[in-house]
Amino acid sequence: MRIIAVEEAFVTQSLVEAWDEILSGSEAEPGFRLMGNSILAKTPINQALHGRLADIGPNRISQMKSDGIDMAVLSITSPGVQVLRDADRACHLAAVANDELAAAVRAHPEHFAGLAAVAPQDPEQAAREIERARHRLGLCGVLINSHTHGHYLDEPQFQPILEAAQTEAMPIYLHPREPGPAMLEAYRDHGLYFATWGFSMESSLHAMRLIMSGTFDRFPRLRIVLGHMGEGLPFWLHRIDNRYALQVRIGGIKPLQRMPSEYFLENFVITTAGFTSAPELRLSLDVLGPNRVMFAADYPYEDAKAGVDFLHSVDLDEATRARIAHLNAETVFGL
Ligand code: MN
Repeated sequence: MRIIAVEEAFVTQSLVEAWDEILSGSEAEPGFRLMGNSILAKTPINQALHGRLADIGPNRISQMKSDGIDMAVLSITSPGVQVLRDADRACHLAAVANDELAAAVRAHPEHFAGLAAVAPQDPEQAAREIERARHRLGLCGVLINSHTHGHYLDEPQFQPILEAAQTEAMPIYLHPREPGPAMLEAYRDHGLYFATWGFSMESSLHAMRLIMSGTFDRFPRLRIVLGHMGEGLPFWLHRIDNRYALQVRIGGIKPLQRMPSEYFLENFVITTAGFTSAPELRLSLDVLGPNRVMFAADYPYEDAKAGVDFLHSVDLDEATRARIAHLNAETVFGL
C-alpha cells in the first residue's frame, strides 16, 4: 500500500538566520519568544532536530524508506516567515523557500511534493506567490501557520489570499503555532502555549473564525486542511451547531447560509498528524466519512515509523485504510 504523508516539515538556512536575528532583538512576538526558549534553543536535542529539518535530499528519502513512507508533502516548519515584521523580507524568504522546495520536488518527483509558504503580511504578494507556486513551481497547496502577528485569515485584508487559493485550487493547510498575542497570557503557565494544548486551541480558533465569519459563503470552493485529527473540531461539531442555532434565535449573530458543521464537512479535510490512537481516528471517520482524513507523520517532530505502524495495524476496512494512506491525498493535492 502506497503511503503519502502530508504534514512533513523542512527549514531553509535563510529562515533560520532570520529567526535568530528576531530572537536576538527586542521585536519578537511574545509567543515566538517562548518558542525561542524551547524548541528553537540551540540544545543538542534541538540541533539534531534541526539537522533533520534542513535535509530535503537523499538522506530524507532514506529515512522515509526506513519509516515506510513513499511520498512526503513537504512544508516550511512553523511559524515560518509569519514572525517577520518586514513584509518584503518575509515575501522574499517565502519565495526562496519555495524555490528550494520546488527544486527538491523536481529532483525527486516520486518521493516529494510541496506546499508553498506565503507571507500574509503582504496579502497581494502572497496571492501572486500562490499563483507562481501553482503554475511555475509545481507545488500542490499552501501552508499557513495560523495567525500572522495576531491577525486571522477571515479579516478582510486577507481576501486576496483566499481568492487566489480558491481560483488556483490550492488547498490551504492551516498549521498550528503558539497562540496569538491576544490569547497568549492564559497559555503562558505550565507550558500550555506549546503543542500539548495551545497549538490546537490556536488553529481550531482560526478554523472557527473562518466558518463563523461566513468565509465559505464567499469562497465556497476554498479548501482548508487541518492537522492533528482536525485540531479537536470533529468532536465539537454537534455542540457548535446546537449553540450556533440558539445564538441565531436570540438575535446574537447573523445567520450563515448553512450550519457551521456543513462548512466543516464540505470545505475541510483533516490529517492524522501526531495521532496514533484509534478512538480519535474512529470518531473522525464517523463524523467526516472516509474521504476527508489523510495520513500525516509530522516528521521530524513525531515518530514517523510509529505513525506508519499505527496506520497499518489500526482496525479499518482495507478500502478506508487506502483512502487515508494515499487516495485522499492524491485527490486533495492532485498528486
Ligand atoms: Mn506539524
